[in-house]
Amino acid sequence: MNYQNKYTKQQIWDFLAEIPDPEIPVITIVDLGVLREVEVLSNKVIITITPTYSGCPAMKMFEDEIKKKLHTEGIENVELQMVYSPAWTTDWMSDEALEKLNKYGIAPPVKGSHDKGVLFENGPKIVQCPQCGSKNTVLKSQFGSTACKALYQCKDCLEPFDYFKCI
Ligand SMILES: [Zn+2]
Repeated sequence: MNYQNKYTKQQIWDFLAEIPDPEIPVITIVDLGVLREVEVLSNKVIITITPTYSGCPAMKMFEDEIKKKLHTEGIENVELQMVYSPAWTTDWMSDEALEKLNKYGIAPPVKGSHDKGVLFENGPKIVQCPQCGSKNTVLKSQFGSTACKALYQCKDCLEPFDYFKCI
């Protein structure tokens, strides 16, 4: 089979846009900005991705999901390439993705903050509560339900919530 005759780049991209994040099912790998490049060759399809948080166990799942999805669509020969530079940042997430995160109950990363210290020390200045919108929130733990998130609590509605850390 000649893949170039059968699939366009956009079609492949659209297939991949249906893959949910293994940890946050409301957003897709395309929303995350992880998918960098799709190349359709006659005998294989090359997918280039940039991992999110290094050591994030979700990345292995992304790879498996990408292959599984493309196999389902009839593409057997899939090559995955990892590109580490430039490094992924939460700024690559689409505005739509940030909106979806918030609706899901996870405070989205504060865009452009690039506060690497967030991962280790003080939280970002203001994280808005996804439940009630209050900015009166406090960092409870550097690690929420996964290592990629921090646990916050709202001082107004008292709800605990995950904050998607900025990098
Ligand atoms: Zn609240």
